[in-house]
Amino acid sequence: MVVRMRVTRAHRDNRRSHHALKGARLSKCSNCGAYHLRHRMCPECGFYRGKQIIDVVALAEKRLQKKQAKLEEMQQEQEVSNSESSESKKASEKAEKKTKDTKSEKKTKTDK
Ligand SMILES: [Zn+2]
Repeated sequence: MVVRMRVTRAHRDNRRSHHALKGARLSKCSNCGAYHLRHRMCPECGFYRGKQIIDVVALAEKRLQKKQAKLEEMQQEQEVSNSESSESKKASEKAEKKTKDTKSEKKTKTDK
């Protein structure tokens, strides 16, 4: 950078004096009175320009049902995995015993 082009602190700060962020411009919903972003559907009631775009209540109910179904599935899977894990534990214990046996056999062989 050439010294001639240097920006002083005052010059830089004056430029940045316009950089502050302003709050979002919100408008009131004509249907329910809640604030929402301009040119966006109202997230509270699903209305935009006096028309219902999305049935918010029905959507929320659907999502709830989906969540509950997923939760039930998870619980069932957990129950299954619990019973499986107990079996697998037994299997792993057996495997450990086998490895120990082989080790002891090897030791005996080395002793000879
Ligand atoms: Zn609304």
